[in-house]
Amino acid sequence: MNKKKVVIYGAGFSGLCLAHFLLKRGVPVEVREKSGVCGGLLGSHLTEWGHTESAANGLLASDDLSELCEDIGVKFLKPLAANKKRYIFRGRLMSFPVKLMEWPRLILFALRYFLKSSGIRAREFETLQEWAERNFSKSFAHDVILTGFQGIYGANTGQLSATLLLRSFFGKKKDRQTDLKGTLSFKGGMGELIQELVHSIESRGGIIHLNTVNTTQDTDDVSVIATGLPAAKKLFETFDAPVAHEMKDLKCAGILSVTCFFKPTGLEPRGFGCLLPTEYKFNSLGVLFNTDIFSHRSDYRSETYIMPESYIDRPKEDVIENILADRSRLAPEAPLVGSKFYGWHEALPVYDKDLEVFLRKDLLNHKSPYVVGNYLGEIGLSKILSQAKKLAEKIGENEF
Ligand SMILES: Cc1cc2nc3c(=O)[nH]c(=O)nc-3n(C[C@H](O)[C@H](O)[C@H](O)COP(=O)(O)OP(=O)(O)OC[C@H]3O[C@@H](n4cnc5c(N)ncnc54)[C@H](O)[C@@H]3O)c2cc1C
Repeated sequence: MNKKKVVIYGAGFSGLCLAHFLLKRGVPVEVREKSGVCGGLLGSHLTEWGHTESAANGLLASDDLSELCEDIGVKFLKPLAANKKRYIFRGRLMSFPVKLMEWPRLILFALRYFLKSSGIRAREFETLQEWAERNFSKSFAHDVILTGFQGIYGANTGQLSATLLLRSFFGKKKDRQTDLKGTLSFKGGMGELIQELVHSIESRGGIIHLNTVNTTQDTDDVSVIATGLPAAKKLFETFDAPVAHEMKDLKCAGILSVTCFFKPTGLEPRGFGCLLPTEYKFNSLGVLFNTDIFSHRSDYRSETYIMPESYIDRPKEDVIENILADRSRLAPEAPLVGSKFYGWHEALPVYDKDLEVFLRKDLLNHKSPYVVGNYLGEIGLSKILSQAKKLAEKIGENEF
């Protein structure tokens, strides 16, 4: 019989990070990936106009990230100074988004936060919109709070669960050892991180099979589902039908990311990007100013527009027309030289009441198949990374 191992389904960021931390503990690993490439949503591509990212353009600094990068020998790319400025459109571009009449409730909230008042916490099954309207003026709740989360979750923020989204805001803050702050990337983008992770996994004896959906394995083997939510629901039908039944109402939202390259005019707003509240009837949800965030991206002015799911199947010229209409309200006109589209149906889990109900049942990660991924409480890569590290410790202790 073969030596007992962990079989990980999915070679996206979740699966690769888990494989790394298991191998570091000496646990044998086999990764099975459905597609022909590793990285899942993440990927960097060089176009004739410059660098593009298929999903995340960076990840938040953390101790776990410093450890991972040191382990695999990859160097961070720190953000440019210009990235510190962030904008929100409230009739005009504002880098400080508070209007005069919004101050009193904002100050009251800050006071209650520092006094640790339980009244400001999210209530069970409260939506983000209800929580925001309860704690802030309506205009601030909609234009700033809901729009801010729209930039991360890309979904109809009104229906999202306040408990799930605000967990880390109200949770215990971890002591950090790293001095690094903010969003980090790599010279070759997120693709470089994936490439180095794969290289390190293989050099430590981990096996990665591409183009496979095979779920047969030795009875001793431990399974981990490290796919996105839609595939996890299907895999649970094979591994644990009662859990699959509990997951049936969980939803995903699609997103379209379009990176546009413009001839620079020198008159563009400089910063990380701009959030676009629905109130102001933009077509896009937000825009990132890539060339102000990291160096080595493009000689042109590179901007990524995040569009709602409904744009994924529309003709490209039509999408570009909508983007240019949005841009005309943010920056002086400039010639568009090229663009790159990444459309993701079912890209991100919807953090709504159904997911809150499911996660409260605490059905996952007590036994094989274990799970790691962006539908377990946090969507961002730095949180997935710490989830993968903790899971590797748990599997190492429970199973080996
Ligand atoms: C446009 C966009 C921008 C984003 N920006 C940021 C950002 O700036 N910062 C940030 O922190 N996060 C960001 N995110 C979120 C982050 O990118 C994702 O949460 C993360 O990449 C998810 O990784 P994953 O490995 O869990 O899932 P995935 O990337 O979906 O990988 C899952 C893998 O499983 C494989 N698979 C599917 N079915 C099977 C099967 N049956 N057997 C085997 N393999 C299977 C898939 O092919 C895929 O390779 C963004 C997301 C999007 C869409």
